[in-house]
Amino acid sequence: FGRPLGAVRYEATVAATDTSNPTAEKFEYQAEVSRLMDLIVHSLYSNKEVFLRELVSNASDALDKLRFLSVTEPELLRDAVDLDIRIQSDKDNGIITITDSGIGMTRQELVDCLGTIAQSGTAKFLKALKDSKDVGSDSNLIGQFGVGFYSAFLVSDRVVVSTKSVKSDKQYVWEGEANNSSYTIREETDPEKLLQRGTRLTLYLKREDKDFAHPERIQNLVKNYSQFVCFPIYTWQEKG
Ligand code: ADP
Ligand code: MG
Repeated sequence: FGRPLGAVRYEATVAATDTSNPTAEKFEYQAEVSRLMDLIVHSLYSNKEVFLRELVSNASDALDKLRFLSVTEPELLRDAVDLDIRIQSDKDNGIITITDSGIGMTRQELVDCLGTIAQSGTAKFLKALKDSKDVGSDSNLIGQFGVGFYSAFLVSDRVVVSTKSVKSDKQYVWEGEANNSSYTIREETDPEKLLQRGTRLTLYLKREDKDFAHPERIQNLVKNYSQFVCFPIYTWQEKG
């Protein structure tokens, strides 16, 4: 139609985003979370590798919760998926995925858990942060209290959480970026990404942290930090 090439390309980009994201709803983080995220993203915290321990521990908690519920509601396990954790890494693209077949999250739980500060460790962290006048101690505090799920942003530019709760027949996708005060939630529509139940986190690593996607590195971290997790943890890598 005689339009400049640049404009055509721009339209194509917008269309592509729209189809993958038909009804994404935008949410603002609770103020405390914004503050925490800002700190995590900009901190000079040197022990970034704790992110894996935090995320594996969340996966393990989710499996525990399901196992506990299934004592009284055995039908929750009817899909007979094993209770396990799978860590897949793609070192060329700097992507790590952590999948658990645990209890999963409903849409409401995504909003409540991954947009506000509910958990005690992170709340204590924020309190300690308030009390400390010394800016340089921020990074010590991260190590001391742990920052749970948000530690994913120690190493990631973008985090995608796709999750299907045992209480819901729909799967939802939470998506957040470092340096952004809002996140989105949409329904999972890609049939290839549907889970029987549980949660898959995809971490798009920062350029300087891509090394974490090396399979040996992941295996070592799992060995060092997660040896007491009582569910099997499988690791494997994308074929190059
Ligand atoms: P904590 O684990 O101390 O509660 P986190 O920040 O690590 O705090 O996680 C916040 C909440 O998000 C958890 O309490 C849980 O409800 C939810 N969550 C995080 N990861 C998962 C997961 N893999 N499966 C189910 N729920 C999860
Ligand atoms: Mg946790």
